[in-house]
Amino acid sequence: MRGLVIKNTGSWYQVKTEDGRLVECKIKGNFRLKGIRSTNPIAVGDNVHIIINQEGTAFISEIEDRKNYIIRRASNLSKQSHILAANLDQCLLVVTVNYPETSTTFIDRFLASAEAYQVPVKLVFNKVDAYDEDELRYLDGLINLYTYIGYPCFKVSAINGEGIEEVRKSMEGKITLFSGHSGVGKSTLINALVPGLELRTAEISAYHKKGMHTTTFSEMFPVPGNGYIIDTPGIKGFGTFDMKDEEVSHYFREIFQISDKCKYNNCTHRQEPGCAVRDAVEQHLISESRYNSYLNILEDKEEGKYRSAY
Ligand code: GDP
Ligand code: ZN
Repeated sequence: MRGLVIKNTGSWYQVKTEDGRLVECKIKGNFRLKGIRSTNPIAVGDNVHIIINQEGTAFISEIEDRKNYIIRRASNLSKQSHILAANLDQCLLVVTVNYPETSTTFIDRFLASAEAYQVPVKLVFNKVDAYDEDELRYLDGLINLYTYIGYPCFKVSAINGEGIEEVRKSMEGKITLFSGHSGVGKSTLINALVPGLELRTAEISAYHKKGMHTTTFSEMFPVPGNGYIIDTPGIKGFGTFDMKDEEVSHYFREIFQISDKCKYNNCTHRQEPGCAVRDAVEQHLISESRYNSYLNILEDKEEGKYRSAY
């Protein structure tokens, strides 16, 4: 029988079967995953096949190919990593232009690494109720920029409810991961979107802070309209360390789009002559802030720094 893994406790998995039952499952046999050394073979979001024994126990016999997954590395040096969730349909990155300000460098790093992991991102600009005229103008500029590049944007206030309905609609039928700096209003927003859910995700955060099962526990929560929310406390964003120099530009859509016009086909868009990307920045066709974020990632890579998006 087919099902969806919605909870991973470290010792067993909760699977929602296609006919709507919740079944506690163990793993049977060895699962080998291509290209990744992981401490856990199965994660929330995995589509699995399960076998229910006569005595009522159940085990997972097969895992279907993933369209994407997010990992947490045990440490910078360790090749071991932990899969936090699989088959994400989207990530809602909650950002603010003040209280606290989310930098465009952070946004762009996050977007680039999400591209690498093939997770579509939508930007949720929260706290619009609190901004003055200048901040609202700046916000509209950012929304124009990111919408133009191809990232859907929402303008919301988790406090007064503005824009919330559109975000709720965009979560229907999807597995959604919430991300964003601490203090931008993720918990408040999740609670406005799905009243009552905040409590459960807060419980899990507390559980994590106590250091119990910190590397293994994760859970997805059903939301109205047949979707799920993941608010994984362990997620520190996506890493950028593994990208090759010439790969970084693949993850900046508007840069990648014109990079075939550069004179050299391995152009890194820094000092090379005949660089179409630098020309486009000079002509304001590519935003300076995006280009700077791009350079920023390259510089960090050179220094060998591991930088997660957080
Ligand atoms: P988290 O760390 O991202 O989960 O952020 P919280 O949900 O804990 O919110 C941090 C602070 O921002 C709290 O004091 C919230 O009341 C406040 N906050 C959240 N959303 C909004 C909003 O839309 N407008 C305003 N003015 N404050 C908000
Ligand atoms: Zn170039």
